[in-house]
Order: sequence, then structure tokens, then C-alpha cells
Amino acid sequence: MEAKLHLPELFGSQVFNEWTMKERLSSASYGTWKKCVTEGTSLDISTANEIAEAMKQWAVEKGATHYTHWFQPMTGVTAEKHDSFISPAGGGKIIMEFSGKELVRGEPDASSFPSGGLRATFEARGYTAWDPTSFAFIKEDSLCIPTIFCSYSGHALDKKTPLLRSMDEVSRQAIRILRLFGDTETRRVTAQVGPEQEYFLIDKELFRQRKDLQMTGRTLFGAKPPRGQELEDHYFGAIKPRVAAYMKDLDETLWALGVLSKTKHNEVAPSQHEMAPIYSDANTACDHNQIAMEMMKKVADRHGLVCLLHEKPFAGVNGSGKHDNWSLSTDTGHNLFKPGSTPSQNARFLLFLAAFIKGVDDYQDFLRTTVATAGNDHRLGAQEAPPAVLSIFLGDELNAVVESIIHDTRYTDAEKKMLKVGVDVLPAIRQDNTDRNRTSPMAFTGNKFEFRMPGSSLSVSGPNIALNTIMAEELEQFADELEKAEDFQSALHQLVKRTLTEHQRIIFNGNGYDDAWLQEAEKRGLSNLKSAADALPAYIAPKNIQLFVKHGIYTEAEVRARYEIHVENYAAVISIEAKTMIDMIRHDILPAVSKYAADLCARADSKKQLDVPCAYEVNTARGVAKITDDLMEQCRVLASDLEDMPAGPEEAMRYCHDTLLPDMAEARDSVDVLEILTASEYWPMPVYSQLLFSV
Ligand code: ADP
Ligand code: MG
Repeated sequence: MEAKLHLPELFGSQVFNEWTMKERLSSASYGTWKKCVTEGTSLDISTANEIAEAMKQWAVEKGATHYTHWFQPMTGVTAEKHDSFISPAGGGKIIMEFSGKELVRGEPDASSFPSGGLRATFEARGYTAWDPTSFAFIKEDSLCIPTIFCSYSGHALDKKTPLLRSMDEVSRQAIRILRLFGDTETRRVTAQVGPEQEYFLIDKELFRQRKDLQMTGRTLFGAKPPRGQELEDHYFGAIKPRVAAYMKDLDETLWALGVLSKTKHNEVAPSQHEMAPIYSDANTACDHNQIAMEMMKKVADRHGLVCLLHEKPFAGVNGSGKHDNWSLSTDTGHNLFKPGSTPSQNARFLLFLAAFIKGVDDYQDFLRTTVATAGNDHRLGAQEAPPAVLSIFLGDELNAVVESIIHDTRYTDAEKKMLKVGVDVLPAIRQDNTDRNRTSPMAFTGNKFEFRMPGSSLSVSGPNIALNTIMAEELEQFADELEKAEDFQSALHQLVKRTLTEHQRIIFNGNGYDDAWLQEAEKRGLSNLKSAADALPAYIAPKNIQLFVKHGIYTEAEVRARYEIHVENYAAVISIEAKTMIDMIRHDILPAVSKYAADLCARADSKKQLDVPCAYEVNTARGVAKITDDLMEQCRVLASDLEDMPAGPEEAMRYCHDTLLPDMAEARDSVDVLEILTASEYWPMPVYSQLLFSV
């Protein structure tokens, strides 16, 4: 019998969360842990031992046999090194052991993870250290302990360390501002993040017949299907039983792991879906998004499906993004991006809004680099994704407020007075009015910003580290100025007015997909970094390095190391795609179309002997044979260009973009025409209509 699911019991059942700690730890140890989390104090070894013992007992009761430090190296995915709890106890017996030392610190071999040169310059080894602000959990019989990952010289080798640093820094600067508004209570301001995750589901059997999907995560070939997303019946449409079963399983799997998976609906493209969690602190949200991506793939496997997280698995069909919803909230329960109802709350809101607008304008190039990957290049700037130009959408009402502050004019026709920051209340800003524009890369959606540029496979750490740090910088500048002011109210009004005036160019409420906007953006002097190869150099622009060094998020060496990893990754991805393409053309496509043409010729021959018309066979064979020869040549050029890849990483990146991608595009065009000309039974792999409509 199928037991009825008790959601409250299921939720978090695989997580060593605060409740479980309260239940299983002495009150002294629980108190020490809590203090460590809220005040950033460290754990003494006896507390660590007690927590480790309780964690182990809990995990063993749940059937766990191993433990692992679970961390996020700069590859952007997670890494684990499993050790079993067992320890020999004499007489051929074992006991289950796990100490505070093993909980708090681990030593994976750092040399197998990318370090972007930090390894060469510094120590080869690295260590992992427990992040007590993120709960341990059980996954596949292993107790997973979220950790940071550093080199022995203290350089961050992961994505969690700088995220935690940036969260501390934005909190510190935000509190300075809050104090100016007379808030004496807030102890911590926390970046809140809700990452919406898009993905495709396709049939596993079909996936197995596509080398490109297996090797690169996307289709390197494929003519447009006769039916794409034109019918628009997929979006929010009825969910098919197989997908529904998958989503149910996914939700339950994620709930057990404490992930607040909430919505499920179909996306615009056929076979495309979305999972949105309820938002949480940025650290947990990033961990949970990693868990979610991993589970989406594993659960799919159980259902005979494959989950594709690539940004653009299918050309000509909508790509997948990861909308990063971001806001700041106080430990006293206030969202600092929520327009308030009193003049003071409004003034505070306008200050945080102005800081955000200035930050996005000042660091638009850096924000662009945080989403710059080879995969996302197929999506940004395409019809359904935000353009590569950063801008902020505020919505009509909030925009009217901004205009009114800038120009000292009335903000509605009905109101006679001007808007004075800190004195007046804002007109009500209706929530439903704010999110209609889906074309903006950074949209204000009532009480948060939605950064829509990140690609679906990206770790959300990068964008959130940037948002937190940029915000910290602007808030610091504001606090420096306002703390010195003699008249706070008028200094505040001047500051907000000046900031909005100077940075209004980044606000754009129109259609971001429109070509006219790109011209307008250029006039405004906004940067338009079209590809990752164009964008990545901004990662190490002096002003950007300075930002992160100043706030203690990265050392200069760490920034450069990360840059190098992104650059190398770009070239690596494109080389793999090029090699896969060559392989498929040579071994699958050319032989198939050659056979088809030969069979057509043979049939034409036999028809001719009987004096039967054979124009179809002859013409088709001619067409196929002509493009077959073109393709052979294009493939030769691609292979030879691939051999000439420059050795330097930056040169290689440029070369991939300027030489290999155009080669690949030409070859693809030929293959796609051949696919259309060739009889189905000859075509060596499943085509788009099969891949997209099979589930
Ligand atoms: P959509 O963007 O599809 O309209 P929603 O508005 O419901 O969806 O929210 C999208 C995501 O934003 C969800 O993950 C939600 O939890 C998250 N979110 C909502 N409020 C906030 C907030 N204040 N800070 C950060 N994320 C938030
Ligand atoms: Mg959204």
C-alpha cells in the first residue's frame, strides 16, 4: 500500500537542521552552535566533538554509512570525498566513528580541482572547513557536511568562501545605513535569494543516440521541427503524466533534503519546465540550488528521462535561464527593497534603491562577466532571453517616482506637491504592475530584483557574490557621506537625487528585445559585451579587482585565478564541441548521407533500365551529394583550425570565438540541410521533433 505522504514529517527529514540539533545536543552545545552562527564566533573542539557524535548517531540511524565534506570548487559543481564511519574495534568487529576534528576540517587533494594558478604559486594541498551556517544532510547513504574549500595559504578555492565574505560585508555596510535611520536593533542584514531553475526533460533512449547531447549537453545539429513553440500551448499547459510523476518524485526528494521546492509549471518551449524554491538566505539558496540541479538529473534517471541543464540544448527553441531573485532583509524582519508606508521607510527604500541603481551602473561590465559562459552565449541576446546589455526595469510607477525626484516635479497628476525624500510618502506601487516586462535583464518585481541573465547550469554564487559586494560598496560610499552630514534629511534628499540623476541611464522600461534599444543603449554609453569572450576580460579590469580586494572578498590573486578558470573553461567547452562535431560528421553523418545518395543512384539506375522516370532520385542524390562534399570540406577546415589552437588561454578563447565558432556554424548549416533532404530511415540520430515531443 502506498502510505499517505506527511509533508511536515517528510520535509527536512534528511537534514540535520536546527530542530534536530536542539533535540539531540546538550543545551550548552546547542547554544555555542547558535552563537557561532549568529555572531560568527568559533566552535571549541569539545562542542565540535559533541555535534559530530550527535550527527553521526542521527545519520547512522537513518542508514548512512559514510560521511563527506561537500564543497563547491571553482568548476561550478559540487565535489565530495567519501569516508566511511567504520573503525576497527578488534576481534573482527567495527565501530562507527566520527570526531569533531573530522567534522570541522578535511583535507581533500586540492590538485584535482581547478585553482587557476593559485596551486602553482602557492600550496598544492587544500583543506575543507565546516560551514556551520549550512545544515548537514544525508544523500545516498552519506552524511554530507557543507564546507568551504581553501588552500593552505588561505586562498579560497571554492564558490562558498567568497559568498560568505560578501554576505558579511553587505550586512556590515547596510547596518551602518540603518543606524542613520535610527534603527538600533538590527544585528544582521541578510541577502535573500530565490533562484528559479529552468530545465528540459527528454527521453533517455533518445538521449543515448545523440553523441552531442552526451558529450556537450546540447545538440550541435538539428533542423527546426515542423512544430516548435508557435502554438504556445505548453506554457502553463497541462502537465503530462510522465512529467507529473517526475515532478512529484523531484519535489519529495528535494523536500526530504530541506529544499523549499515550490512551483512547477511548463515553460515556453516544448519539454521545458521550471522549479522555483521559496527564497532563503543566499548561502542556503546557493547550496540548495546545487542540490536541486544534482537531484533533477538523478530523479530523471529513475524515470527513464534525462534532465538537460544546458542554456541552449536546442537551437531555435527557447533556452534555459536561472532567474536570480535577490533582496536584503534584516533580522528584525524588514525587506529593505519593500516600499514602505511611512516617509522614513520610504526614504530608506529609496536610498537602497538608489544604491542598487548606482551599483548596477558602475559595475554593469562585471555583472555581465558573472554570467559569461560558452553555453550562455547561445542564449543572451537571442529572442527570448535578456540582451547582453545590462539595464534595470523599474515599472511605470516607480519610474515616475524616480523622474519626480530627479526633476523636482510632481509625481502624479493628481498630486500637487513634489516628492521630498524622507518627508513624503510614496504613491502606492502596485505589485502586479511591476513584472510584466519579461525582457529586462534586471527587473524590480515589487520587493526584490530579478537578475535574469544567469544561465541554467550556472552556480548562482558568482552573481550573488557580485550583487552583495557591489551593494556593499555603494552603501559604504553612502554611509561615509551621510555620517558626516549635518542635516541628515537634506543630505539624504540630495544624495538620492544626485545618484538617480547620474545613473538614470541604466534604467530602461521598454522592450529589451528590440533592436532600437541596443542603439539607444550605445548612445547612453552602456556596455554591450556580446559574447563571453568579449565580456570576460572585464573580470580583471582594475576597477573590478579593486572592488573585491577593498571589501576583502577576493585577493587580487584570487580574482585572477578565477578569471583564468573562466577563460580556460570557455576554450575547453568549445574545443570539446568542435571535436564532437568532427566525430559525428565523419563517423555518422557523412557515411549515412553517402549511403543514402548511393542508394538513390542505384534505384535511379534500376528505374532507368525499365525506362521509369527517376527525376526524384537523381535530383535528390545530386543535392545530397553536393552538400555532402561541402560538408566534408567544412569538416576538414574545422579539424585543421582546431589543430592550430593557440597555446595561451586568452588567445585560445579569442580564437575559439573568432575562428572555431564560425567554422562550426557553417558545418552545422550543411548538416541541417542534409537532415531535411535525407530519408528518415537513413538519418543516424533522432531529430528535434522526436527529442522535443517524445516525453
Ligand atoms: P515569477 O518570477 O515566476 O513571477 P515569483 O514572483 O513567485 O515568480 O518568485 C520568484 C522567486 O522569487 C521565488 O523563488 C521566490 O521565492 C523568490 N522571492 C520572492 N520574494 C523574494 C525576496 N524578497 N527576495 C528574494 N527572492 C524572493
Ligand atoms: Mg521569474
